[in-house]
Amino acid sequence: MTESGFTCPKGLDNQFSPNLYVANCGPAVGLSFDIIKSVFGTFGEVMGVHAADNSGARVIVCFHEVTAAQAAIKALNGFPCPALRGRTLHIRYSVPRQQKVQSDYSLPVSLSASELATPGIHLVHEFITAKEEEELLAAVDIRPWKILSKRRVQHYGHEFLYETRNVDSKQFLGELPSFVSHVLEKIMSFPGLDENNSKLMDQLTVNEYPSGVGLSPHIDTHSAFDDLIFSLSLAGPCIMEFRKYPEGTWKPPDDVIVDKVSSSQCSTFARKAIFLPARSMLLLSGEGRYAWHHYIPHHKIDTVGDHVVRRSSRRVSFTFRKVRRGPCCCKYKQYCDSQMVR
Ligand SMILES: [Zn+2]
Repeated sequence: MTESGFTCPKGLDNQFSPNLYVANCGPAVGLSFDIIKSVFGTFGEVMGVHAADNSGARVIVCFHEVTAAQAAIKALNGFPCPALRGRTLHIRYSVPRQQKVQSDYSLPVSLSASELATPGIHLVHEFITAKEEEELLAAVDIRPWKILSKRRVQHYGHEFLYETRNVDSKQFLGELPSFVSHVLEKIMSFPGLDENNSKLMDQLTVNEYPSGVGLSPHIDTHSAFDDLIFSLSLAGPCIMEFRKYPEGTWKPPDDVIVDKVSSSQCSTFARKAIFLPARSMLLLSGEGRYAWHHYIPHHKIDTVGDHVVRRSSRRVSFTFRKVRRGPCCCKYKQYCDSQMVR
């Protein structure tokens, strides 16, 4: 039995997570991982049950969805559970241990896309001016935000559905707002792009990340969006990490692997990282968009070369995408929901 990479957060009771720290529960009190998994599985898909420590009486239950974890905590916390030998469980949300080890980021961080050398990933520094940055921030700050568990978002063009990581292509919210017109114009002149492609961006997601909040590793759903994904960083910098899992390997649930990897020499998947300063525009396309997971580590402090870069109090990203009509026909079938054989 290996100790999980999760910890029970102190003073973070309000921080929702798909992972639950469950006390008074485990093999030492007569409850096998299988039984625990089946009982928690009635609230949603359970990705795994792990020992929280060596006691045998505390486990981490990892759900696929935060909503399932919320339902389980509501139903099971503090009540005797007949299906679990009548034991009274004590449950809290759990976070990956890495959130506590904030300066332990050993991966070298590239400052340019050429240094990163991943096909399809491009970065343009100072894509907009500081004045334009200010205006974009002012424009979104007077509009309503949708509150997610750790960050705030706004959607334009089409709503993004986090449950399915997809869009409802029939639910059109309207044209992209005029305050991004000049950004869309500049996208058309993005180096190496054919003009027809770049004209058609019709979905914008604005994300606001407080300091220390990142993004779980994921690939934007192939069937949801076309090839080109543009992401503009505003207000503060971050590091973006890219991961490529070898052909045919099991893809672990988002957070589980986060702190089990300590160097770029990891044998399970390739890792690369790039520094995204404020006002830079990142383009994910081709292999970089279809086959590499992208991930923002949950750090307050990033190490870039010999420099320590503190995350600003907020980072806002504008992600421009084009809603896909019809199935994806990419050549990266392992990652393609349109072509996946289950
Ligand atoms: Zn695809």
